[in-house]
Amino acid sequence: MNFRLSEEQQMIRDMARKFADEVIAPRAGEMEATGEYPYDIMGRMAGLGMMGIPFPSQYGGSGGDWTGFHLCIEEVSRADVTLGGLLDVTTSVVGQELFVFGTEVQKRKWLVPMAHGRQIGAFGLTEPGAGSDAAATRTTALLEGDHWVINGTKQFITNIGLDNASIVIITARTQDGTGRDAMNTFIVPKGSDGFTLGRKYDKMGWTHSATHECIFEDCRIPRDHFLGKEGKGFAQHLAVLETGRISIAAMSVGLARACYEASLRYAKERVQFGKPIFSFQAVSFKIADMAMHIELARNMYLKAAWLKDSGLPHTLEAAYAKLFASEMAERCASDAFQIHGGYGFMNEYAVSRYFKTSKILQIVEGTSEIQRLIISRNL
Ligand SMILES: Cc1cc2nc3c(=O)[nH]c(=O)nc-3n(C[C@H](O)[C@H](O)[C@H](O)COP(=O)(O)OP(=O)(O)OC[C@H]3O[C@@H](n4cnc5c(N)ncnc54)[C@H](O)[C@@H]3O)c2cc1C
Repeated sequence: MNFRLSEEQQMIRDMARKFADEVIAPRAGEMEATGEYPYDIMGRMAGLGMMGIPFPSQYGGSGGDWTGFHLCIEEVSRADVTLGGLLDVTTSVVGQELFVFGTEVQKRKWLVPMAHGRQIGAFGLTEPGAGSDAAATRTTALLEGDHWVINGTKQFITNIGLDNASIVIITARTQDGTGRDAMNTFIVPKGSDGFTLGRKYDKMGWTHSATHECIFEDCRIPRDHFLGKEGKGFAQHLAVLETGRISIAAMSVGLARACYEASLRYAKERVQFGKPIFSFQAVSFKIADMAMHIELARNMYLKAAWLKDSGLPHTLEAAYAKLFASEMAERCASDAFQIHGGYGFMNEYAVSRYFKTSKILQIVEGTSEIQRLIISRNL
């Protein structure tokens, strides 16, 4: 067994770490406070090729692997977990769905600009009545001549509010019936007739991720915006969400590292009872646990990514990694807050932001309960 990263993977990790330290981290507090999207930073991430790492060069990527891409997500998320989420949705979910299931024309039109980072993608699975039970989709798509006519509402859709978001990939029912094979997948460009955005959600964290409701009222898209195979839309979405779970695990590890590093620094500086608080075992053991759990969670997401790169099944490993890493990140954020005492509650301390942004990792792309369901069904 070889735990060593390849030269290329190390290069990606080091490049992302340097960029995250120098460019993202100094702006992270301001982005979260204002909710303003950092288009300049996104442009520079695109320039470094981050959005296209796992795609071949003919589709705008750099021909790297999913392991390297997830190391990049970890580093970006250590500075700002919301930008890690941008990479997850754009590349792991939307980009991959186009890459694996799209026609040549769809790949050229939508994937290439996305892999270059010029355009950003969104995916629309969740509806008011279909959250964990995503198969309860009510949105419909009916063929009328050369167009699909879509009616329904998707909610909590990440990225779609960004100026350079180009499409949302949605699931919709194309026939009566509740079966999963009645669901198909469609590429809906922003600006399509009958497609409007609801207001931007007012969130407690990830404020700059531009999350909106997507409303389709007799929305018309050309017939060739159908994505993938008839009757397989739901399965397609689930397949790419497996990679999304590895991405959420990598985001969680990045966030947990930020908590750990802030805690270690603070505990060595803060003096109470005449000593740095790190000398109290109650504090240093919390930090020791953080370090150990981060190492374990990283190994879990790297194993899942390696299985994916090797073309091997990874349903269980992706669920293990997502579940463990997201719960671990919330614990690290809570302990980091505790170690900072009252200062942890102050917005000027980064740990307050880590605390506010950690819980949601246990919700998006399948809650912890749904991960346990996936795991138990696969035992
Ligand atoms: C910031 C943010 C960004 C998001 N981005 C996107 C996006 O880009 N695209 C998209 O499609 N969706 C997105 N979502 C939606 C997200 O994936 C859902 O919120 C999530 O899947 C849970 O669905 P729900 O909120 O409807 O909760 P529900 O499904 O109503 O769940 C409520 C509670 O019940 C539990 N529960 C439900 N069913 C079971 C069961 N069978 N067994 C045990 N417990 C169960 C859940 O675990 C949870 O604790 C986003 C959400 C947020 C908050």
